[in-house]
Amino acid sequence: MNDCIFCKIIKEEIPCNKIYEDNNIIAFLDIAPVNPGHTLVVPKKHSINMLDTPEETLKELIAITKKLLPAIEAATNAKGFNIHINNNEIAGQAVHHIHLHIIPRFKNDGRKLWKGSEYKGNEAEILTKSISSNL
Ligand code: AMP
Ligand code: ZN
Repeated sequence: MNDCIFCKIIKEEIPCNKIYEDNNIIAFLDIAPVNPGHTLVVPKKHSINMLDTPEETLKELIAITKKLLPAIEAATNAKGFNIHINNNEIAGQAVHHIHLHIIPRFKNDGRKLWKGSEYKGNEAEILTKSISSNL
C-alpha cells in the first residue's frame, strides 16, 4: 500500500527501532510508547486487521510475540504485559496495517484498563445463541 506508514517502515523508506525481523514479520518499538519497551509486531504483507488477515499469518504473529516477550521482559524488567490488537477505527485503530501491541507493565505504572459493565435481562443468553449460530 503506497501510503501505509508500516509498509514504508517494512520497505525501509522510513526508519524504526527494529528489534526483530524475519521473512514475514517485523517488530519495532512504538514511537509513542505507553511504557518503555512498547513494541509493535507487524506482518510484512499488508492487511488491515484480524478480520482480513489469514489465520496462518496470525499464528506467526502470536509465535513471534511469544518469542519476544522474554527478551522484552529481560530488557525492561517488566512485571507483566498487555497484548492487544485494535480492529477498525471504532476500536482505536489508527494505522490500518495489522499490528499487535506488546505493552510492558510495571508496578504502579498508573495504566488502567477499562471497567466492565453488565448484561441486562436475557441479553447474554440471546447474544450467546446469536454469536454461536454465526460461527
Ligand atoms: P493503533 O491505534 O493500534 O493503530 O496503533 C498505532 C500505533 O502505531 C500507535 O501506538 C503509534 O504510536 C504507532 N506508530 C505510528 N507511527 C509510528 C512509527 N512511525 N513508528 C513506530 N510506531 C508508530
Ligand atoms: Zn501496510
